[in-house]
Amino acid sequence: MSYANIIVNVKARQLDRLFTYLIPARLRGKILVGQRVVVPFGRGQYVDGLVWSLTDQAPTFKVKPIVEKLADSYALSVSQLQIMQILRRRYAATYQEAYLAVLPSVQKLDKIVLYSVVEAFDDYLVGQKIAPAHLKERYSSTQIAARVRAGQLLKQLTFEFKYQAKQVEWVRPLFRDVEIALADFDARAVKKRRIIKHIAHFDEIAMRDLTRATRAARRDIIGLAAAGLVAVQTRSAADLSIPNRVAPAGAVDRPLSTAQQAVVADYMALRQPRAALLIGVTGSGKTRVYIELAKRAIAAGHQVLVLVPEIALTPQLVNRFSSQLTADIGVIHTYIRPAEKVAVYNRVKSGDIKVVIGARSAIFAPFKQLGLIAIDEEHEYSYKSETIPRYQTVELALQLAAKLKVDIILGSATPSIQTHHLIDTGALKALHLDKSFGQSQLSDIKIVDMTALPKDVLLSPPLQQAMARCFERGEQVILFHNRKGYAHAKQCRSCGYVEMCQNCAVPLTVYDEGRQFVCRYCGYRQPQRLACPSCAAPLVDIGYGIEQIQQKLTALFPTRRFVVVDSDLTHKPIAYRETLAAFQRVEIDCLIGTQILAKGLDFANVTLVGVVLADQLIQMPDYLSLERSYQLLTQVAGRAGRGLKRGLALIQTYQPDHRIFDYVIRRDFAGFVKEEKQLRDIVGYPPYVTLFTVKIQSESKLAAHRQADLLYDFYDKNFRRHAVKAQVFQPIQPFYARIRQQYRTQVLFKVAQDSRAAVLKMLYYGIVQNKYDLVDANCWVDIDFDG
Ligand code: ADP
Ligand code: ZN
Repeated sequence: MSYANIIVNVKARQLDRLFTYLIPARLRGKILVGQRVVVPFGRGQYVDGLVWSLTDQAPTFKVKPIVEKLADSYALSVSQLQIMQILRRRYAATYQEAYLAVLPSVQKLDKIVLYSVVEAFDDYLVGQKIAPAHLKERYSSTQIAARVRAGQLLKQLTFEFKYQAKQVEWVRPLFRDVEIALADFDARAVKKRRIIKHIAHFDEIAMRDLTRATRAARRDIIGLAAAGLVAVQTRSAADLSIPNRVAPAGAVDRPLSTAQQAVVADYMALRQPRAALLIGVTGSGKTRVYIELAKRAIAAGHQVLVLVPEIALTPQLVNRFSSQLTADIGVIHTYIRPAEKVAVYNRVKSGDIKVVIGARSAIFAPFKQLGLIAIDEEHEYSYKSETIPRYQTVELALQLAAKLKVDIILGSATPSIQTHHLIDTGALKALHLDKSFGQSQLSDIKIVDMTALPKDVLLSPPLQQAMARCFERGEQVILFHNRKGYAHAKQCRSCGYVEMCQNCAVPLTVYDEGRQFVCRYCGYRQPQRLACPSCAAPLVDIGYGIEQIQQKLTALFPTRRFVVVDSDLTHKPIAYRETLAAFQRVEIDCLIGTQILAKGLDFANVTLVGVVLADQLIQMPDYLSLERSYQLLTQVAGRAGRGLKRGLALIQTYQPDHRIFDYVIRRDFAGFVKEEKQLRDIVGYPPYVTLFTVKIQSESKLAAHRQADLLYDFYDKNFRRHAVKAQVFQPIQPFYARIRQQYRTQVLFKVAQDSRAAVLKMLYYGIVQNKYDLVDANCWVDIDFDG
């Protein structure tokens, strides 16, 4: 092929198309789809690009040649290219957005300028490369420019990766018995004997550590390798994969239960590519099923992707998998160090790593031979990307699995209504695990009516009494309240003034008993303010956060220890781990947390959980709020009574008669889903229609409003004219009309399922490509999906 159609890494939505380049003779046959290249773009500019397709047909216009090809190891895999297609079609991503989404940040190219020495001068030699910063330390800009003009220095543009995986040698013993191995050497071979004795204690050890510990040289070890006693392998330094160690004591491979065997058999009997949803309460053995299916996929020569909603949940899952599989496991999420990420990516691409475990972004790993995708807790909201491209990971995975003909299994105790709908349509098969392992019983759930109590009571008498009883028995408590800080806001008692953020239309959250004000959107901080700036009356707290609950509880139970857990803490992994460990050791009596605490944690001594204010959940102005409330409340209730002792969950609310509580108390999820589906079908909400929200941001309030009106008028008129099965709603301001100095407006589209693709195309042309000149240069417009 002589020409390549290339995605160029240029951020310009209107240029969302492929660019054709000539493949120069020296690169013919070496340029393949998915490879990354450097191409000229614009005047004297070079950018990196991705080969999307090849052709022999000469374009009618003059094309420039590809300049360079990156090493094959940087090429994108078939799974990544397929994901890019889906991101484009399903989520209106531009080529460049799709490209950057699948490319890990560590494989992004840095454009750098270097000077190369053409003619020796001072102490520089011909051919030497010098960084601009270095030259500027010694010479003025005019001097440098003069040397460039004189041809002594050549200014060159180079591309470089920010991070390179450091390669390290690893040594592995190949002998079984130390004595037999030693018998090969007489007593004079002191060093070799020392190496053998030392390495016998390891599965594998870095060459550097081995030579240091035995005071030997690398060539001694190479000598042993030649003798067949050890193996030396070069691998990346930051190898996160867990070597094939002996399983830790106690983690023996338990045989599948009869119920698990039945689930596995049902799954395997499905038509390929298999797609199923595994419904089962926490502890019913879903993870064990994923492991079994993973085993089978690996035995068939495939790789496996396991997705979890929270980074914090990966370590325990990695332990489970590594104790039951002998395959290499890689972990991918946003917080692993760049060098490690490069290492893991390379080994996924080479096929060495068989199992990838990670949060959302792990789906972008460069799989060589993907065979199975397992998604745990598929209903979790963290699977939705809140940055462009705004994909939904479960949906993306389902589409990817179908395209690549790969098996997929979703799992949850409370699957989303969207996923239930896929069972109705036959796209997914439902499998069930009904019973929980172990003796733990489901906790009792009780509703506490707050309406009869004075307004300023945060903790009702029943909750206080239950806590006291719990503490007396030496048991522990978890309280949930989804508000950080001390108070929600500060307000003037006389004129109503509310202390607001400078950058956002958001009241400042009060921390540290009022000594700190912080914006929860942009992080803006300001010191305490006691009196109203306009009328000098005192400011009072509005709403209460977890810090205030902690304060109240400390006053009520002075000898008990209460600790607050919020996202500020979970972002400090060490402090967070220590808190959980102290709670495990029963050095803390009660954790007070935001909903971050609801997931996965398992403490046998917790017998009481309290939801301080359920109204906050069920009142959210969002069609998903009840579904999420149900999921969260049952999850929260599941934190109590994990051990042998029976648990109790108390839910405080001002709406004790709300229909959701009936379902929650009876744990009638199926009933709840049935009613919720009917309502959504009648009212017209997903999964029965598709929602697109066009979000507008601008520094100018006027521009943001005009833009919304313009888009509304345009699409409303066009939908009517072309009888498109879609509805546009009058523009609205989101709940917070200004964030980070940007005014925000939005326009909602409700679209019949069979018109989704057509309407998205219309939005793409109008908004992304700006074909009808609708988009104001002062506005940023973007499309969000289903909520
Ligand atoms: P889930 O993923 O549904 O929460 P798990 O797979 O984690 O469930 O299983 C819950 C508990 O039961 C775990 O402690 C696990 O070790 C145990 N378990 C799972 N399968 C078996 C089995 N076949 N035999 C014995 N114990 C099992
Ligand atoms: Zn702010």
